[in-house]
Amino acid sequence: MALVETAPSLPTYAGVERAARTLAGVAHRTPVLTSNSLNRALGAQIFFKCEPMQRTGAFKFRGAYNALANLSPHQRQAGVVAYSSGNHAQAIAAAGQLLGIATTIVMPHDAPAAKRAATESYGATIVSYDRYTESREAIADDLARKQGLSVIAPFNHPDVICGQGTAGKELFEDVGPLDALLVCLGGGGLLSGCALAASVLSAQCRVYGVEPEAGDDVRQSLRAGEIVKIDPPKSIADGAVTQAPGDLTFALMQQLVTDVLTVTDAQLVLAMRWFAQRLKLMVEPTGCLAAAAVLQQVYAVEPGSRVGVIVSGGNVDLASYGHFLSDARWDTGDWVVTQ
Ligand SMILES: *Cc1c(COP(=O)(O)O)cnc(C)c1O
Repeated sequence: MALVETAPSLPTYAGVERAARTLAGVAHRTPVLTSNSLNRALGAQIFFKCEPMQRTGAFKFRGAYNALANLSPHQRQAGVVAYSSGNHAQAIAAAGQLLGIATTIVMPHDAPAAKRAATESYGATIVSYDRYTESREAIADDLARKQGLSVIAPFNHPDVICGQGTAGKELFEDVGPLDALLVCLGGGGLLSGCALAASVLSAQCRVYGVEPEAGDDVRQSLRAGEIVKIDPPKSIADGAVTQAPGDLTFALMQQLVTDVLTVTDAQLVLAMRWFAQRLKLMVEPTGCLAAAAVLQQVYAVEPGSRVGVIVSGGNVDLASYGHFLSDARWDTGDWVVTQ
């Protein structure tokens, strides 16, 4: 049988609705939190959609489960492979366990022991590689060819994008139309899915992605009008240190996203502290990207406006978390909102 490669069509809001039905009763409908002191300080209403409370501690469960649930019986039988040391790996492993699909995760041999253990606890097979000499994509592709596994990409995958979009869909359903939505941004799966939700449920809403300043591959790509690949970025936002968006996420972001903002690591730390102190919420650095733009007024909140913020995940090991909360080295940002 000849394999014909056809250009994949872009996901639509109908796909997000289908994903919501697939995830009903499986993924948590995460809470939306607000802070009176923040709203008073800004003269606006800020709504935080809290994905640290999602299964596996991040929104990635949504896309992973939706992608695995949409496999054919034949593909389910063969199993899947994913590459990630972080939240996508855990999400794929957990979704595979729920659906009875074998999962293989390609992970660097020096990945944090806690992340490896969490992934293994869901029954995944871990394949280690040397991040300095080997390519994880090549290893995953090789396993896919030899064992007939389906590769589930972390963001550039239609069912992953639609699954992530259910976070935005829930937010609009729960709080109504918004003037602006800010979304943490790595490769753009979460942002493009949420932008699809906004385009139908809150058509006037401006949609922004927030990237680490050191890893602004999407901002550069949108400005250039083509996908730009950057050097491996260094940031504490380890879930968003992508080098380039994918063709699907880039095309959707080009159509639906108003602009991309960036925040520094120091600004992320201030946001982590704010979440711990004010909302009693443990958020990982990557999960603070969108919130940091609001708290630090990188995004100028208009008085009287209603702004949604996706808080994307809460997986950070306790030693690092303690360091971020207490180490004075980070006390350099301009924490304008709360002192
Ligand atoms: C993966 C991840 C992101 C980035 O998501 P993309 O779909 O790659 O843009 C943001 N926050 C957290 C916590 C993540 O795990």
